[in-house]
Amino acid sequence: MRILIVEDEAEITRFLTLELQHEGYQTASCSDGRSGLERALSGEFDLVLLDVMLPELNGIEVLRRLRKLSAVPVILVTARDAVMEKVNGLDMGANDYITKPFHIEELLARIRVALRCGEPGTQTSGDDYLSLGDLSLSSASRQVTRAGEIIEMTKTQYDLLEYLLRNRDIVLTRDQILSHVWGYEYAGNSNVVDVYVRYVRNRIHDTEESKIIETVRGIGYVIRDKTRKE
Ligand code: CA
Repeated sequence: MRILIVEDEAEITRFLTLELQHEGYQTASCSDGRSGLERALSGEFDLVLLDVMLPELNGIEVLRRLRKLSAVPVILVTARDAVMEKVNGLDMGANDYITKPFHIEELLARIRVALRCGEPGTQTSGDDYLSLGDLSLSSASRQVTRAGEIIEMTKTQYDLLEYLLRNRDIVLTRDQILSHVWGYEYAGNSNVVDVYVRYVRNRIHDTEESKIIETVRGIGYVIRDKTRKE
């Protein structure tokens, strides 16, 4: 498997190269968007790790141009709190994103998932394992555990938690949650979202200190990945 690293920070490129080669991947790297796009279009890579803040062409623009011609899996590397980058990147056909600073294990897991999917637009279907701190979800078995303890959930509670966790760091409106979890026919009755968020918080023992699911007043809810904020 060959991975192209498009990253302008030499230190990060060196770190990624070492780690990925250690995992058995072959790598090549480019330090600006224009040459990155050219290499990515060469067809010789199985996956592209694409930084967003790049000289020449930014990562979102590289992705936009790349997607006209290629379905190679792309994982965007975004700056912390750059919500619009993530949204634009996913809209533009990124298979996944990871936020700097990241743990290499998390990146490796995302790479494995992206390589399994291989196609844009199917970025979540092959994903079978999600985690945040001591909370983990297995989408294959639809099982939730917290600190090793299995947590019973109804289908709707599970769907809600999974949806929030898959879109971590993105604030989801009540309407988005409604239409994703309940389907469009419930649109307009968004109180049900608040009720179910309360259920889920109880289930996963989401206390005031841990605050897994945050309320964004007047908008909706978000699960933030605090482990990625040093
Ligand atoms: Ca950069």
